[in-house]
Amino acid sequence: MALLKQMLKSIREKNPNEPEFHQAVKEVHESILPVLKSHKDYVEARLFERICEPERVISFRVCWTDDQGKVQVNRGYRVQMNSALGPYKGGLRFHPSVNQSILKFLAFEQVFKNALTGLPLGAGKGGADFDPKGKSDGEVMRFCQAWMMEAYRHIGQFTDVPAGDIGVGEREIGYLFGAYKKIRNEFQGVLTGKGQDWGGSVLRPEATGYGLVHFAHFMLTEVDATLENKTCLVSGAGNVSQIAIEKLLQEGAKVVGFSDSSGFIHDPEGMTEDKLRFLKKIKSGQRKSISVFADNYKSAEFTPKGKKTIWSIPADCAFPCATQNELDENDAKTLQQNGLTLLAEGANMPCTPKAIDYLQASKVLYGPGKASNAGGVAVSGLEMTQNRMGRYWSKQDLEKELRTIMKAIHEKCLETIATHGLADLDYLNAANIGAFEKVAKAMNAQGTI
Ligand code: GLU
Repeated sequence: MALLKQMLKSIREKNPNEPEFHQAVKEVHESILPVLKSHKDYVEARLFERICEPERVISFRVCWTDDQGKVQVNRGYRVQMNSALGPYKGGLRFHPSVNQSILKFLAFEQVFKNALTGLPLGAGKGGADFDPKGKSDGEVMRFCQAWMMEAYRHIGQFTDVPAGDIGVGEREIGYLFGAYKKIRNEFQGVLTGKGQDWGGSVLRPEATGYGLVHFAHFMLTEVDATLENKTCLVSGAGNVSQIAIEKLLQEGAKVVGFSDSSGFIHDPEGMTEDKLRFLKKIKSGQRKSISVFADNYKSAEFTPKGKKTIWSIPADCAFPCATQNELDENDAKTLQQNGLTLLAEGANMPCTPKAIDYLQASKVLYGPGKASNAGGVAVSGLEMTQNRMGRYWSKQDLEKELRTIMKAIHEKCLETIATHGLADLDYLNAANIGAFEKVAKAMNAQGTI
């Protein structure tokens, strides 16, 4: 036992100044302690320490010229975390907060998430401390080309396949793909999230949001409930939240709150398809603040960013889809006291550890992001398959496939709960243990590398 505790301490010491990475590692460590106790071979093979040590971390200079002709310098990264199950796979984040700790936590989460999809996917994450906000298309293009000028030598369809994350959508993937093709003179599936006419999957834009709502649906089925007429909160204003709202409407749920970095909207009358179209226009088209929504709809009230958060709105279900640590213990308490039944994570690690402890203890159904937001990377995996086959699949086929994958992840969680004697509907420990066992087994089989 002492040895197992020591493990966490030495990982912390070896990776100083990486609080987000420590947080992600600690959560998994806590979940898998009982597995390690009964698996001496895993402990002897140092499997947990190996999983926490990226196979490779690449950090590089990215120089580009802005519209004023001034030289700008950013730092680019690719963390190649684990290739036990397949090529490194995971998104790119372009955001001023990006640093090694954030990318290592994301890459670490990706190891488990990708394992849960059941597809042959290893794990990685990358990006840069570049802020796309307020940049012209030309500036974003030159930045993407400069990023790829270094990254191309480290990635490839059988090596490492990046995709999008915060700040990286179809526009950025296009510029990155074009740069890779130009440098290598090869049209290959080196990135996912591509445009639909040049190798992309027709369902990739919807995949994370749809998958999230499917997962919530399966969770609710376990308590004989459905999403119909449930009041819902969805934070964040990016692709994941917009699509989650879309799917929730299709399921008959009532979305009464949503947010962006400027504040949140409370609309007791709920979202409609018309309102959602307007939201998509102001957020994705015009890149404006969500406050514009309240100017347009009388029933909606805007609260600027401050002490009060979106989680103060009473609701049955909450879907944090913005970013890491956006929901703390106080938020969790408020939500639960206001009658919350379910929380499923669309973002990566959006709940603080104390918020998760509170939710688990108070018997709110909690869907950890590794399981609930795995639909995005799953459809990325399907995009890779399509690229290798050199063909396209229809939207209907992909929708069916995505639902099947989310169902399988849910069933895998239930199976792990049963085989490991976990508490009823303990998705957190089930996702961590189920994924760890799969990766650990593969690593063990592949020897000490
Ligand atoms: N960034 C997404 C995630 O967190 C998608 C990764 C991918 O499609 O490779 O899973």
